[in-house]
Amino acid sequence: MSHKFYGGVHPAEHKEATERKPVVPLEEAPAQVVIPMSMHVGAPCKPIVAVGDEVKVGQKIGEIAGLGAPIHASVSGKVVAVEARPHPGGGKMMSVVIENDFQDTPCETIKHRDNVDALTPQEIIDIVKEAGITGMGGAGFPTHVKLSGAVGKVDAILINGAECEPYITADHRLMLERGEAVLGGVGFIMKALGLKEATIGIEGNKLDAVEHLKSLLPADSGIHIETLKTRYPQGAEKQLIQRITGREVPPGGLPADVGCTVFNVATASAIYDAVTEGKPLTHRNVTLTGGAMARPMNVNAPIGTPIEHLIKMAGGFQTQPQRLLMGGPMMGNPQYDLTAPMMKGTNCILALTDAEAAVQDTEQTCIRCGKCVNACPMHLMPLYMRMYSMKRDWDKVQEYNVMDCMECGSCNYICPARIHLVQTFRMAKFEIRGLQQKAKAKEAAKA
Ligand code: SF4
Ligand code: SF4
Repeated sequence: MSHKFYGGVHPAEHKEATERKPVVPLEEAPAQVVIPMSMHVGAPCKPIVAVGDEVKVGQKIGEIAGLGAPIHASVSGKVVAVEARPHPGGGKMMSVVIENDFQDTPCETIKHRDNVDALTPQEIIDIVKEAGITGMGGAGFPTHVKLSGAVGKVDAILINGAECEPYITADHRLMLERGEAVLGGVGFIMKALGLKEATIGIEGNKLDAVEHLKSLLPADSGIHIETLKTRYPQGAEKQLIQRITGREVPPGGLPADVGCTVFNVATASAIYDAVTEGKPLTHRNVTLTGGAMARPMNVNAPIGTPIEHLIKMAGGFQTQPQRLLMGGPMMGNPQYDLTAPMMKGTNCILALTDAEAAVQDTEQTCIRCGKCVNACPMHLMPLYMRMYSMKRDWDKVQEYNVMDCMECGSCNYICPARIHLVQTFRMAKFEIRGLQQKAKAKEAAKA
């Protein structure tokens, strides 16, 4: 139970509102789903359906156009628009809008596979690709690309069941309610990578999930379950690797550089469904919570369900939220347009009251207490990154390695002066990327 990763914080957990509530389907299915063609790291998919087309659940509607994962219909019905719509990441994104016929007619490609033991590693990777699976912990990296890139290059598979962000319980419930699917998916990942062992890391505030998964494990599975001391951001890839293996990913490096690859428990269960039942990624668990939500709950919802519909299913707001986030309070994305949809990586819709969002109070002057330095799991110096960002001295900001900031929000949380550190670093990274692109364009023009 001793934590080994550097830095981090221990915010109040706030999981009690939903941690004992089983995942339920939506009381009413959405009348329309809005499915963005970009829900992953990489290039947006190309829509392959047109207005007027009838589609079935699991039918492919977006094809890969570069790095990416295909996208499938999450309800059956008629395509009523293929156009730019509000995206939870901000701005608008090409989306396929489907009017639900409430029949849930499955696509013919969804069928049970009997002979899973006979599948080769490459066949498993191909199934994962066709199923459109992306990292479901939030990062959204295409899983088939991660698997292909790890073959022969890693010796440690880590499965993230930490769910370290406050409020969120979607993965906790998944481990309790679909433990066989999680373990089965881990088995397919091991086979795809040709490795005999994997370790699932679960925080100590979910001991019931630890015990449950242990009780399901066959003796010779090669899967280990490790209980981790509760500490944020334990679920971040680099921190999980350090905590479980003691290996440290170098600045700017990738998990594969230290022989590791990391998958989320929800990703593992989606892999299981794809391999055994031929199901693409069309639904996922989402926690609807926060003090402003009337009926906090865990739901399994079709991807593309508008945020406003999810909030309605949770009884609406019992008080006007001070902040509405997609994700947890530390790394979640603020939402301003409730017609935007939930996506493959959405694990939570969080409606915070004034009191809960108090951490965002007015900024005061930095008192140089150094707490942000101690809290930063990436060994950065947030106070200096902030100081030079405010001076717009981008060379200095880069010298302090702002590009290594993973925007975990630990510095924000711990800062007694309530300085909006992580927001400043997001802005700094945006400015620096812009300058880098301009410099590249200039070089290219010269050449
Ligand atoms: S924690 Fe806040 S007040 Fe303390 S040094 Fe960092 S920025 Fe300054
Ligand atoms: S947000 Fe960035 S600077 Fe702040 S603690 Fe996290 S990694 Fe460090």
